[in-house]
Amino acid sequence: FRVALTPIRRRDKGVVGAIAVLHDVTEAEKLESSRREFVANVSHELRTPLTTIKSYTEALDDGALEEPPLAERFVGVIRSETERMIRLVNDLLHLSRFDSRQAQLRRQMTDVEEMMEDVVDRFSLQLRQKAITAKVDVEEGISQVWVDRDGIDQVLDNVVSNAIKYTLDGGSIYLTAGTGEDGQLSLAVRDTGIGIPKKDLAHIFDRFYRVDKARSRNMGGTGLGLSIAREIVRAHGGTILLESEPGVGTTVTVHLPTVREGGEQP
Ligand code: ADP
Repeated sequence: FRVALTPIRRRDKGVVGAIAVLHDVTEAEKLESSRREFVANVSHELRTPLTTIKSYTEALDDGALEEPPLAERFVGVIRSETERMIRLVNDLLHLSRFDSRQAQLRRQMTDVEEMMEDVVDRFSLQLRQKAITAKVDVEEGISQVWVDRDGIDQVLDNVVSNAIKYTLDGGSIYLTAGTGEDGQLSLAVRDTGIGIPKKDLAHIFDRFYRVDKARSRNMGGTGLGLSIAREIVRAHGGTILLESEPGVGTTVTVHLPTVREGGEQP
């Protein structure tokens, strides 16, 4: 709280009282500090690959170019660091498109089963590389929904890519669509992966939060995937929930209110 005190004076009696005005500044301050933290995080995440690129370029300049096998390795590092920066900037752009609650959704009639099958198709190469089986199950009677197709694709991509990243070779992933409370559409992605420790669950949707920073980085993670998913789901008026048990697996469930065709608000 910020307190402003104004004395009440009487000409003959001096100060007889005071008016205290209490301003609740906690919300504004919290917002400001989270904004500052976000900028610091982005800068750090961009500086790391840039520093690597700079030092490897200098090494090439300083003679590594004369040793082709070495040069090849250095160029490989530069390329993968550049790709990481591109992923990060793409993620930041997605965040900025959806991060206000009034985000403009481009809703269109979307076939749920086709949408789920398409996600699996987009990851078929990665699934095959890790010998992970993916199964899609859509409840009878669920057909078309009025959603921002690109947005929900992004949500499913982020969640499924995590499911693949954090599931060991030979595991399984189940994508289901069903009817939740109040007739909401409920989309779930369950994996048989490594799971998330209880102490991390509360932070899992925070921007740049990673359970294991080094591991996530190695897998190409930016720490933004779930926060982007949450922003998109919120823009639809929905909710996203993650349940996990270490060693057993993780389930992410998205609830989306049904909106009639042509409608905007849930
Ligand atoms: P990242 O880009 O690092 O994957 P996310 O925001 O998508 O960032 O996820 C945050 C963290 O949550 C990940 O770093 C990972 O530790 C954990 N996580 C997310 N999904 C899963 C999952 N299906 N299984 C295990 N851990 C997960």
